[in-house]
Amino acid sequence: MEKRRAIYPGSFDPVTYGHIDLVRRALLLFDEIIIVVAINAGKNALFTIEERVDFMKRVFKNTRGVKIDSLEGLTVNYARKVKARTILRGLRATSDFDYEFQMALTNRRLSKEVDTVFLVPSEDHFYLSSRLIKEIAMLKGDIEDFVPTFVAKRIRQIYGETSKSV
Ligand code: ADP
Repeated sequence: MEKRRAIYPGSFDPVTYGHIDLVRRALLLFDEIIIVVAINAGKNALFTIEERVDFMKRVFKNTRGVKIDSLEGLTVNYARKVKARTILRGLRATSDFDYEFQMALTNRRLSKEVDTVFLVPSEDHFYLSSRLIKEIAMLKGDIEDFVPTFVAKRIRQIYGETSKSV
């Protein structure tokens, strides 16, 4: 039988516990998840594509069923190439709705064989975003609760030491 394969595209700049939570949930539904880190020229990323891929590889190095790749170009073309019928995305608070629906419907226009599946993270991660973490770090706040330790360490190298929250 063909593998149920989903691709999970995103900037992942950097990976957070929200992204990780989503992949763990998706592993219960799919045989294989390919995380595709987008080389997004439009977005000003803090981390290079190599570093963002490396973070993901470290997070999932012992997890069966997860692969990591990078992507420049259209998500639906990539899905076709790897024979995935599903694009996985996360839905957080209402702020994600407009953008995610627009993209899901556009992708369906571009490729009828591919559908988007949305998963909702645990309540603990509902408001978490890579952007928020960078803002907290910039203001020297503690980010240990939101990203893996090695990612937090790397962020501190960029923004300087953070103060523990009270
Ligand atoms: P984008 O692809 O828009 O640059 P990200 O790389 O931050 O965004 O996220 C990739 C996907 O993961 C998006 O579908 C986003 O909604 C989802 N996501 C991000 N953070 C969370 C979270 N805390 N919980 C659930 N889904 C999330």
